[in-house]
Amino acid sequence: MPSQPQPQGLIVETGSGASVLQLPATTLEQIRHIAADPGASTLRLPPPATEPPAGARELDFDLCYVCKHCKVAFPSPTPLQAHQARACYAGREAARGLIRVVQPALECRACPGERFRTAADFRRHTEAESHVRRVALTAGQPTAPPEPLTHEMEDVVNQITLLAARAAQDSAAPKEAGVGFCAPGPRFPPPGELPLASAGH
Ligand SMILES: [Zn+2]
Ligand SMILES: [Zn+2]
Repeated sequence: MPSQPQPQGLIVETGSGASVLQLPATTLEQIRHIAADPGASTLRLPPPATEPPAGARELDFDLCYVCKHCKVAFPSPTPLQAHQARACYAGREAARGLIRVVQPALECRACPGERFRTAADFRRHTEAESHVRRVALTAGQPTAPPEPLTHEMEDVVNQITLLAARAAQDSAAPKEAGVGFCAPGPRFPPPGELPLASAGH
């Protein structure tokens, strides 16, 4: 019997048909190896980059869930459980063996939800128009405009400023004795000189 070339991937049962998830041979070997152990296991794939490129952060996502018995993968735990209850582990669900395959990915900091499996994919994304526009939009926006002060708050701020100015003068006073003109001025302008936004009189 001629040996069939092994497909370099996992069969994924998507629910609307099967597809092949391309994976490196070493990863497939790891999956076969882990599948020999009973129970639930997690396999974390190598990260796309040793250091996330600027503008990206590393983020894990569940790539698939593999049935240890038949090595068929499912996109989420629910269809896997249904498959195992119906077929591979029928009647012995407590012994279900599965591998959760975790893929460290890169998420764009500017575009939450945009994930990439490789640094090259991320770089391509940073050249895309939608990303460039979003970054320009984020950069052009001033960080949260300051809340306009109410009159009451302004009074409090003025008092605090005055107290702080007095405190600064008081604490500096002993050292300034004899120094005279070298003394630094108050660190806060007196309240009267503050530009008052509410000056409506
Ligand atoms: Zn199975
Ligand atoms: Zn982006």
